[in-house]
Amino acid sequence: MIIDVHTHLNNYHEDKVRSIDDCLEALEQSMAANGVDYALVLTSYKVTPNRPPTSDVVARVRDHKRLGVVAGISFMNFKERDLREVADFLKDGHVKGLKLYPGYEPFYPHDKRCQVIYDLAMEFDVPVMFHTGDTYAPTGKLRFSHPLHIDDVAVDNPNLKIVICHIGNPWIRDCMEVVYKNKNVFADFSGLVLGDFTDRFEKFMLDQVREMIMYAGEPRYLLYGTDWPISSMESYLRFVRTLEITDAEREMIMWRNAADLFRIDTAALAKLSRPAPSAGAGKRAPAKA
Ligand SMILES: [Zn+2]
Repeated sequence: MIIDVHTHLNNYHEDKVRSIDDCLEALEQSMAANGVDYALVLTSYKVTPNRPPTSDVVARVRDHKRLGVVAGISFMNFKERDLREVADFLKDGHVKGLKLYPGYEPFYPHDKRCQVIYDLAMEFDVPVMFHTGDTYAPTGKLRFSHPLHIDDVAVDNPNLKIVICHIGNPWIRDCMEVVYKNKNVFADFSGLVLGDFTDRFEKFMLDQVREMIMYAGEPRYLLYGTDWPISSMESYLRFVRTLEITDAEREMIMWRNAADLFRIDTAALAKLSRPAPSAGAGKRAPAKA
């Protein structure tokens, strides 16, 4: 089984408008072509013609058995009514987690204004995902996206489940320590490349992920995620195949950890029939962020 905890329905080809339905179709095709059983779609911290609001994504995805939504929240602009809307989606089970974007927005994860968001996540027992590490946009501010700041949130909220997205890349050692020390912190290794890994970069990253498992131990904290359409699913699956780990560890990373963390019903997923991959699916040119 494969669960991808990190995908988007945003259109990153911002020179041409692409509808949410086109993006959704491309996601379904790529999942089918790569045998991905379930994916979480993360919404943005901002709404633009290329970045649909959570309500639109929920409306498209709510009856889709292989997709769930993680609601992006803008630290700068969230209002009480936004949290009420998210609370309703959490109640219905359509939203499986929350996402914050430090670095893209200038705030530290331990800012007191975030506590109401963490309280909401704990009330519904869903994880909060954090963007960490490199910001693709040069306007991002890196001091806010350093994974070390997650430690404060983890310590002050021992019952909050946290995901460090992108393993803090390039501050992967800091991420290692934060997941090692805090049992409530997980990490996804999505978005390490734009498009496909080159051989050299793949080797470099494989070494880092191996080092992480060696340091932090049994990878009960590590989650498979791609950041599709920024990174290609094909390239990520090859990346994981190349990782020298036991079958049990592979299962944890590919789906077991995610199923527990996001409470995904894998028994129900196993019963679904798999759509046949359509011709040409998965061969799309990789998107650039
Ligand atoms: Zn992402």
